[in-house]
Amino acid sequence: MDKIVSLCRRRGFVFPSSEIYGGLGSTYDYGHYGVLTKNNIRSLWFQAMVQERDDMVAIDSAIILHPRVWEASGHVEGFTDPLVDCRTCKLRFRADKLEDAQCGNKPSKHPGEWRECDLTEARQFNLMFETSVGPVQDSSSKAYLRPETAQGIFINFKNVLQLARRRPPFGIAQVGKSFRNEITPGNFLFRVREFEQMEMEFFVPPADAERWYRYWIDERLNWYVKYGLRRSQLRVREHTAEERSHYSQGTSDIEFLYPIGWSELEGVANRGDYDLTRHTEFSTTKLEYVGSDGERYVPYVIEPAVSIERIFVALLVDAYDEEVVAERERTVVRLHPAIAPVKAAILPLIGRNEDMVGRARSLYEELRRQHIVEYDDGGAIGRRYRRQDEIGTPFAFTIDEQTLEDDTVTVRDRDSLAQERLPLSGVRAWLDEALERPWTTPKGD
Ligand code: ATP
Repeated sequence: MDKIVSLCRRRGFVFPSSEIYGGLGSTYDYGHYGVLTKNNIRSLWFQAMVQERDDMVAIDSAIILHPRVWEASGHVEGFTDPLVDCRTCKLRFRADKLEDAQCGNKPSKHPGEWRECDLTEARQFNLMFETSVGPVQDSSSKAYLRPETAQGIFINFKNVLQLARRRPPFGIAQVGKSFRNEITPGNFLFRVREFEQMEMEFFVPPADAERWYRYWIDERLNWYVKYGLRRSQLRVREHTAEERSHYSQGTSDIEFLYPIGWSELEGVANRGDYDLTRHTEFSTTKLEYVGSDGERYVPYVIEPAVSIERIFVALLVDAYDEEVVAERERTVVRLHPAIAPVKAAILPLIGRNEDMVGRARSLYEELRRQHIVEYDDGGAIGRRYRRQDEIGTPFAFTIDEQTLEDDTVTVRDRDSLAQERLPLSGVRAWLDEALERPWTTPKGD
């Protein structure tokens, strides 16, 4: 993980937040390449979940919802983690994740010895961030920053049913920030207090719920493989009955082999009719499906839920490679071209040669209309290639002496390092085609 953190920092993907004020633990800001990568993850998710389907609509609900929403959902009462305090070092830990705890014990008087943590009994700590709405702060103004986007979907169920004229099976998809006051955030972006969730609630007739639950586990697993995660680094782990949330009829984690070990990348849950029933009860608005033939039922809900942050880390971890080529070490990030923040680099071989710069700039102007591409004429060509390898740019077009003679350029492939000569006028079509080609990770399965 240290290598990924340092690469993200060095190449401007992710910065520790509020750094000039000493940082705010486990909070991050995204730099240019981080923003581009996140945009790609978000839009590929949206493409698969909404754009390419007939049974899905999108929604964008508010972050601060009516506080009763969180009573109905069970979050006010039960969205808690067990918290323990250490009487010696005064740090707080999650009682069910003590293996993640980094104890702040001071060494005892005897060198080489460390004091054991002296832990209190566990008590429940609610993870929702509280805020107040309006100028007066009293109990009636209390509200919460949403800890998940799902509830914003359930409370709009009736709107979608009526106005988007849907009938089960259909889904509502949402992407947006969620907030959790995690007791022990950490492991870079894996567990943060502010993250961007991508959730979809799929409403189905109760009798079909199990089948759709299996369907969505497969769909989501295949999506990861399509965008470059090796199958060997992914597994599905079904929750035991004790582990499942109160609302769940079945939950599976799609786990990835992070540097911290197998951990949840995405959760897929069969939430039954819990959410719609609870919101019907609390709001007194009936949330059910009524067919034209009078058929009526409360749909069951299948939910795949993930954060962009966990996908971002998984993709970088799996794509990261170090190798020695011609006795020189290189770090290369073998991202799927659709995920890579920059699709191609345009490089004049000699940055001071006006003819090369002119041709390179005009190629850059042509390509940037369609794709995120980068022009770079600073420093030795080898260094410029290495920089692009580290940000995962799949292709580099180089304008050299020969270009000035015969209007051809070289294209260099990030993974194989193969070089090919192309006519300058054909570069745009070549790149369009290359980015559409099916891609398999050069790292194997
Ligand atoms: P965990 O057990 O790791 O705390 P969870 O089971 O509480 O996660 P869910 O409530 O199922 O997580 O949230 C759905 C998804 O949102 C997770 O699979 C994960 O991708 C993402 N997620 C949850 N909490 C965080 C967080 N603190 N930071 C980044 N992503 C998160």
